[in-house]
Amino acid sequence: MPECIPPGEVWLVGAGPGVPELLTRKAERLLREASVVFYDALVGEGILDLAARDARRIYVGKRSGRHSKDQGSIDRLIVEAALAGERVVRLKGGDPSIFGRSTEELEACRLAGVPVRVCPGVTAASAAAAGLGASLTLRGKARKLVFLTAHTRADDRLDIDWRTVADPDATLAVYMGKSSAEALAAGLMKAGLPGSTPVALVEDASLPTERRFATRLDLLALSAKTALGDGPALLLIGEAMRAPQPRPAGFRRPTVPGVLEPHAE
Ligand code: SAH
Repeated sequence: MPECIPPGEVWLVGAGPGVPELLTRKAERLLREASVVFYDALVGEGILDLAARDARRIYVGKRSGRHSKDQGSIDRLIVEAALAGERVVRLKGGDPSIFGRSTEELEACRLAGVPVRVCPGVTAASAAAAGLGASLTLRGKARKLVFLTAHTRADDRLDIDWRTVADPDATLAVYMGKSSAEALAAGLMKAGLPGSTPVALVEDASLPTERRFATRLDLLALSAKTALGDGPALLLIGEAMRAPQPRPAGFRRPTVPGVLEPHAE
């Protein structure tokens, strides 16, 4: 099989939602070929083990509030490694093109004349829906799928055009929305989405620690606070989440206030 990465080339590679089995075969091959791997906080355990034994693994993660490296330094590191003749893999959680700051890295490479390519990955929303046994779209009810980030700015305000997102025909897949769940729910309800709109919360999607909860928009703030832990979590909002979902063995009645249907294995 021909090699994918010539020396001096950069690949932005989607690592998927966490579990190594959800890596694409191409991502796995690129990892094996890399001489250096720059990786994020959300790259799942076991995935880095797939890189060559002598490949350098460099952590460039940013978890909210505790930025270890700013985006400019990451861009520079990647470009410098490529210019030094390394086979560079920039490994990002999920899909690189979804809230992954890939544009900056692509630009930096292009400006420096470094060849750069992208390998897609399974995004968190797909993994979350799979875990729920639900569909992100629903014939006649959820004709649109909106990937939304609800990351608050420094002044704690959400910069969202509520009229466009409070759409009863859409499923909202909210990334980085845990800490702003309250503002998000309030904004959506003020813009007209009913409080009874179903919401699913999925933490650590695809991992053995995955946890899923079903709640509703007017209980979202409480549910997010009481049910979720420290792992990355995705909020799925909309009628598609009302579709009957398989009850895994061991299904329990609610134990946490504000959470209607915890799904437990
Ligand atoms: N590029 C990534 C998203 C990066 S933004 C992708 O395509 O999935 C980081 C956010 O993604 C997290 O705050 C969380 O909202 C979501 N996320 C990433 N991995 C997740 C997982 N395993 N389970 C639930 N949400 C996840």
